[in-house]
Amino acid sequence: MKKYIGPHVSAAGGVHNAPVNARAVGASGFALFTKNQKRWDAKPLEPTVIDAFGKNMELHGYDPRAVLVHDSYLINIGHPDKENRERSVNALIDEAQRCAALGLTLLNIHPGSHLKAINVDECLAVIAESINIVLDKTNGVTIVLETTAGQGSNVGFRFEHLAAVIDKIDDKARVGACIDTCHIFAAGYDIRDEKSYGETMGEFERVVGFKYLRGLHLNDSKNVFGSAVDRHESIGKGSLGKEAFRLLMEDARFDGIPCILETPNEEIWADEVEMLKKMAGYQ
Ligand SMILES: [Zn+2]
Ligand SMILES: [Zn+2]
Repeated sequence: MKKYIGPHVSAAGGVHNAPVNARAVGASGFALFTKNQKRWDAKPLEPTVIDAFGKNMELHGYDPRAVLVHDSYLINIGHPDKENRERSVNALIDEAQRCAALGLTLLNIHPGSHLKAINVDECLAVIAESINIVLDKTNGVTIVLETTAGQGSNVGFRFEHLAAVIDKIDDKARVGACIDTCHIFAAGYDIRDEKSYGETMGEFERVVGFKYLRGLHLNDSKNVFGSAVDRHESIGKGSLGKEAFRLLMEDARFDGIPCILETPNEEIWADEVEMLKKMAGYQ
């Protein structure tokens, strides 16, 4: 089973443009926002757009399993305040319904932030409760929890955080995890050489389990190890270095899932995709 490798592409002009943009850089998978990620409201997806998306997916040879949708940056389902949390839960339900309408199943989210009003454990419990509501009100979509850098009051910077949320989810078939290489590196998980890579992935297996792995974000880091700062860099051009990505691309545990570039320089996405595909053994 191949790795689905590609960038988080633009959906400007409509989500149906995303598969076209992915194909243009030689991607075998991709990520997208299904609405403006910086706004709460969005019009429902037009039937013509949904139809065009399906046609372009087929035309450009993309399986829905190769696509990892990213939710809006405004959503915080761990919000300590009930009213604000409800707004986020409703927005996430809308996001999940948009995925389902497009025939997509993987919805990547940032777990949430406690905003210093509640502690980490309380926030994790609130996140799990919110996800249970979202899963109950939607069908066919898996909520994928992304590891974070631990910036500000964001939770999700320890594998234990993801495990604690997953543990409280009623329908465990519809919850998963996404490793972001820049974020885990900033959070203090090293993967720069074979030894540290083995230890970090061993810890992920012990704490969360690869059976929950549904996505990978491939980003080098502008900041140093353990900085807790989330600043992406192009592959091989940051403090993570190329070796970490070679190790990931040769690791069969990441086969069959979307491996998504969120790197800053679009101009070299095609080169990055080509390099990663080569590392992953694409002919
Ligand atoms: Zn993200
Ligand atoms: Zn990410």
